[in-house]
Amino acid sequence: MDSITIEKRSWNMSRIRSKDTKPEMIIRRGLYRKGLRYRLHVPGMPGKPDLVFPKYKAIVLVNGCFWHGHDCHLFKWPSSRVEFWRDKITENRKRDVKNRHKLLEQGYRILVIWECTLKGKYSYSEEEIINLAYNWLFSREIETELVEKSDGAS
Ligand SMILES: [Zn+2]
Repeated sequence: MDSITIEKRSWNMSRIRSKDTKPEMIIRRGLYRKGLRYRLHVPGMPGKPDLVFPKYKAIVLVNGCFWHGHDCHLFKWPSSRVEFWRDKITENRKRDVKNRHKLLEQGYRILVIWECTLKGKYSYSEEEIINLAYNWLFSREIETELVEKSDGAS
């Protein structure tokens, strides 16, 4: 593999990483249809959270399992550029924790919806996940994570 190929690939992956991923769009559309309104990728807030619901003082993050290093069946360490990816994903995880702490300190509740809830062999239906997210917004839970069905746990 030559270096141009590698460069191109990491550029493609960085594109994939950016906003408006498919799982995020599913959640956005689903909650919008249920009448909820939110702000997107709010600048000035820690980590520019995906969806912010000012009325509920709540945040919904839709995390890609690769980029955020999720311990699930969708995540595999890449077999090339091992160190690069290890550093990158470790950094992403650290930043996630830091941002979540800051948001909690500011009084926000946080729901993390992992990509594997909507994709892969242990996923739920879109409707199930949207309903879970909807109900969570009206709950008193402070910090919640939705993950793939339990048979996918490693
Ligand atoms: Zn996952």
